[in-house]
Amino acid sequence: MVARTYLDWNATAPLRDEARRAMANALGLTGNASSVHAEGRAARRLVEEARARVASLVGAEAKDVMFTSGATEANVMALVPALEIGGHKALRDRLFVSAIEHPSVRNGARFAVEDVEELPVTSDGVVDLAAVPRAVQRAHRPLVSIMLANNETGAIQPIAEIAEIVHAASGVLHVDAVQGPGRIDCDIAALGADLISISSHKLGGPQGVGALIRRGDIHIVEPLIRGGGQERGQRAGTENVAAIAGFGAAATAASVAEIDHFALLREQLEEGIKSVTPDALIFAAAAPRLPNTTLFAVPGLKAETAIIAFDLNGIAVSSGAACSSGKVQASSVLAAMGVEPDLTRGAVRLSFGWSTTADDIQRFLKTWKMLAGSLVKERRGIAA
Ligand code: PMP
Repeated sequence: MVARTYLDWNATAPLRDEARRAMANALGLTGNASSVHAEGRAARRLVEEARARVASLVGAEAKDVMFTSGATEANVMALVPALEIGGHKALRDRLFVSAIEHPSVRNGARFAVEDVEELPVTSDGVVDLAAVPRAVQRAHRPLVSIMLANNETGAIQPIAEIAEIVHAASGVLHVDAVQGPGRIDCDIAALGADLISISSHKLGGPQGVGALIRRGDIHIVEPLIRGGGQERGQRAGTENVAAIAGFGAAATAASVAEIDHFALLREQLEEGIKSVTPDALIFAAAAPRLPNTTLFAVPGLKAETAIIAFDLNGIAVSSGAACSSGKVQASSVLAAMGVEPDLTRGAVRLSFGWSTTADDIQRFLKTWKMLAGSLVKERRGIAA
């Protein structure tokens, strides 16, 4: 088999050894975390230890972490009109989401369509700060959902500034922080967020587990999954103890700074792409970006064909947009940034992580040099 180079970490990261060990250990237990006997208490201990680890990753209190099946569920759970703050009803009358949010925010929110408003982004892929006060002041009790960093471009959003504007308008701020942990600071208080969503599999834990984390006394009056009283009545269902334990172990590993070499690798990557294809465009290049993400396009390139060609050469990359249906669709993020559809179709995303080496980057660049001539129909601008 051809050796593989994995450059699709924003889709999912490899499972960390720490997480694998924690899960294997948890799978050896029998108890239901709600049972009072010794087996149940042992399972509960693992869940609570993981809760403290996940809380510590974002500077929250353990009691404020609610485990879910992933960030999709956490986003849908958070974005509902019926909230209580400090024990008082605090019904939200309008939801504001940016034009570059993940589909779980754009399509999953439990608001009437006419009560949802989109906030524009600039051509750099960053929420247009000037538009935020104008918009939120139109609502009495706004709920605002903005992601910490975009999964396609890596553009980091001005969350602290947005938090100030939202709070001045008596609003609540939810932040989809999925792409942040292990890459940039995700301290919930520094961000000024009231609620944040994170996902285990983006930081080296297992897939199918995540968390909604709150700051302050915010209560979701209409939980998404009702039934038993698990997760303080906010999310019913027997806890997935092994997945939660793996998430906790990965969260601790991701808390340790491991990104020092990311910026250097990305510089090598982007310089290399430019030297092979000088007309390559790197999206959100002028914005603060995640140090592990490059989204680029070349006029004439088709992402679908490029991904297959890279795959056949042992390299996993992705198109700009996630292709959950297995089909590459035009990126709504790039469309929101005003990028022409022709260029949007050619966007290839490279994202890496803690185990990526300079050799992986060189292998990608060597392959790009080999493939670019045949992949890019418009051959002008390709250096031999
Ligand atoms: N938000 C963002 C920004 C994401 O990148 C993803 C994963 N693609 C999600 C939410 C959904 O996370 P999960 O896979 O845990 O449902």
